[in-house]
Amino acid sequence: MSDGSERRFDRQARFAGFGPAGQERLGAARVLIVGCGALGGSLAQQMARIGVGELVLVDRDVVEWTNLPRQVLFTEAHARSGAPKATAAAETLAAIGGPTRIEAHVAHVDGENLDELARGAALVLDGTDNLATRYLINDWCVRERVPWIYGGVVGASGLVMPVLPERGACLACLFPEPPPAEHLATCDTVGVVLPAVQAVTALQAALAMRWLGADDARRAEFETWLVEIDVWRGEQRRVRASRDPECATCGKREFRHLESGGERAAVVLCGRNTVQVRPTRRGTKLDLERVLANVRASAASAERLASFARFEVEGFRVTLFADGRALVEGTSDAGRARAVYDRWIGT
Ligand SMILES: [Zn+2]
Repeated sequence: MSDGSERRFDRQARFAGFGPAGQERLGAARVLIVGCGALGGSLAQQMARIGVGELVLVDRDVVEWTNLPRQVLFTEAHARSGAPKATAAAETLAAIGGPTRIEAHVAHVDGENLDELARGAALVLDGTDNLATRYLINDWCVRERVPWIYGGVVGASGLVMPVLPERGACLACLFPEPPPAEHLATCDTVGVVLPAVQAVTALQAALAMRWLGADDARRAEFETWLVEIDVWRGEQRRVRASRDPECATCGKREFRHLESGGERAAVVLCGRNTVQVRPTRRGTKLDLERVLANVRASAASAERLASFARFEVEGFRVTLFADGRALVEGTSDAGRARAVYDRWIGT
């Protein structure tokens, strides 16, 4: 006897804008979500629940307590153990179940690994918290003619825009240069609230569902808008996003963010009092046991977990992955974090 699970997608397939054919197309699609925090986690939950065929998740960070009010895939157990976000997200999605195949990568997205991560993706969803990665995604997607959906949130407001290469504006048409960091309001300075995250990802997910479920005729009806939403004031407005024929990225097809490969400099993570440090040499493979053996005598704690090592030294908590990437918690000073890294890991 059937347990009824074959009717799982019945209600959304009844929706006229989507339909059984939409469900079928969705079930055959591969989607990359860059970032598994607030935006990425909410997007991943929606994509898995609606039955996307394959979901590729990638995130460089670990779960902490301040994530729990808005990062919907994480539990207290994840915060307590400081689990990597990508694997913690995959664990929660597996419990929800369904037909979606999930691939989780604990990594920093750069010009080198994006090719591999995004290979075969019909769509890329932006769940990041930083502009450098968004310009990298924009370069890759315009170059490969793969659509992506920009989403950004800060405070109680957010922005959403689909980028459909050769059809509408790209991120660089609207903002040719990333604004200087000191001009940006960030989650660090003005905070962020869950309803704003949910509103932004609801718009991104609706666009994803529409696009992935559509046939060519329906795709031709797509227009590109930049939507601004403020959940505190209950306001939403949209402006037409027009393509700039002089755009360096989609007009002249110069992909300088991708070509620079993403810099190797230390990056201060948004809202975290944490700095990510990467080894200066590419292709590093670290012996985590050896590093732990070296730090153990000086460290307040040192342990080996599933895919990473963690130790506390000089008042900093260091999470170290086998590719040599480290998260140094307890500072937002990139120079200090690099010094801690060089002293104790030193690749
Ligand atoms: Zn452009």
